[in-house]
Amino acid sequence: MLARPRLEVQRGQQTLLDSAANETWSMATLNLDHHYLDGQWQPCTGPSRFPIINPTSEALIGHVRSGSKADVDAAVGAARRAFGDWSETPPETRAEYLDALFRELDVRADEIATSITAEVGSTLSLSRPVQAGAAISKFRDNAAIALDYPFEEYIGPTPILKEPVGVVACITPWNFPLLQIAAKVAPALAAGCTVILKPSELAPTNAKILAECVHAANLPAGVFNLVWGDGPNIGQHLVAHADVDMVSFTGSTAAGRTIAGVAGQTIKRVTMELGGKSAAIVFEDADLERAVSGVLETCFVNSGQSCTAHSRLVVPESLEAQAVEVARSLAEQWTLGDPMDDATRMGPVISNDQRTRVRALIEQAEAEGAHVVTGGAAAPAGHSSGFFVAPTVLSNVRPDDTIAQTEVFGPVLSVLTARDDDDAVRIANHTIYGLSGGVWSADRDRALGIARRLRTGTVEVNGGTFNGAAPFGGYRQSGLGREMGLYGFEEFLELKTLQV
Ligand code: NAD
Repeated sequence: MLARPRLEVQRGQQTLLDSAANETWSMATLNLDHHYLDGQWQPCTGPSRFPIINPTSEALIGHVRSGSKADVDAAVGAARRAFGDWSETPPETRAEYLDALFRELDVRADEIATSITAEVGSTLSLSRPVQAGAAISKFRDNAAIALDYPFEEYIGPTPILKEPVGVVACITPWNFPLLQIAAKVAPALAAGCTVILKPSELAPTNAKILAECVHAANLPAGVFNLVWGDGPNIGQHLVAHADVDMVSFTGSTAAGRTIAGVAGQTIKRVTMELGGKSAAIVFEDADLERAVSGVLETCFVNSGQSCTAHSRLVVPESLEAQAVEVARSLAEQWTLGDPMDDATRMGPVISNDQRTRVRALIEQAEAEGAHVVTGGAAAPAGHSSGFFVAPTVLSNVRPDDTIAQTEVFGPVLSVLTARDDDDAVRIANHTIYGLSGGVWSADRDRALGIARRLRTGTVEVNGGTFNGAAPFGGYRQSGLGREMGLYGFEEFLELKTLQV
């Protein structure tokens, strides 16, 4: 019988992070060749291994070995065996475990931030508060939700039970790796589900640290399992597995389509956080400098590798020349450099493949008639190594152009023009996606009116502050379901009606 940790979280508590850390992450000889299965580290038995590359130096950090399908089966078996007891564990006890996990992670916050900067290229100034801090806080936030949540309600005389869905496969990307993991694993565990995590093979160290913290927090064996591997083989085997009840996926819309199809064969519950091509509408009455600065912040953060990037700036025709000039001047202040240096605003993109893809999209935009205002496809000066892409602003982009329709996942802002408010809404909604958007106007009612007409899961009005407890997710091909806060937690529950 494992010792239960003590409970520090309070009902309704909001997390304020102390990210003090006392360990230094070392890049030397990283060799991830064990999964965390059934409460133990067990050797990966797959044939292939993937290099982990530092995108700033292009140096080899180490390797992660893939699991085999048998490893996936073992992880699912462990999660299934653990589900009975965990689902019946009182929510207060689950909250205790999650709170203990939060504290284990918090001690290692700096190590997590540094490893993500090394593997993804995010600036350390982003990694500390967001890649580590915001991610870690999800465990305490979901502990607090579990403490307060009404797992039984009545409709008239009829009891409605809210029960955990079951065994959940969590499949996650590399761009905000631990945040995406935490947004799934924390509510799933809090709800009483057991988990198999398959993180991205490109940025795996944070997931290894999470598994170490799960172990240190004494979570019962099989409640959390980690398998390494690629998407098409290992990820897809997990999605197809008959003993997995739910798939919670974050990644590209292309992979999401495949996963939805495979999961559909066994009628699994599927939640998806997918790609985006979000538009920010800036009206003539907005503070132009402040608005464009805010748009660039969302577009360029994490070297543009953010699903919510406002990568289309839509302005009235009369404002075009001025907006383009402001965008150029502000974009040129986004200095490229070593992401470990606090003075750097933008690091590299994650891989050579990603850099090649972004440059090709810029070239295609030019071929279709766009003008490069600043940046461009050429290698930025002074960066002979590292997967750097110059912060780029494109003008003369039309709504149907490839660059206006494709998620770039790189630091590229396209400026488009609209005839009037209705045209601006039409252009913003003219995409297969529907994840995020922005409206900037001195007239708050006008901005809110336009925000209501955007077909997206989130709209930032005049650069509104991000509330991590509010639901997050996409309309249309940006996703299914919601993450974060109470709504994200409820995705992991089934409703049972007792007709008494
Ligand atoms: P990706 O789709 O290539 O991979 C994401 C994860 O899915 C990885 O773990 C991968 O191994 C796995 N995978 C890929 N194909 C699979 C398959 N057929 N079956 C099972 N698993 C499979 O995405 P990426 O390149 O890692 O991340 C970038 C994408 O993620 C972008 O499109 C971005 O918009 C999206 N994203 C969305 C959100 C959101 O909240 N909406 C957040 C972050 C990233």
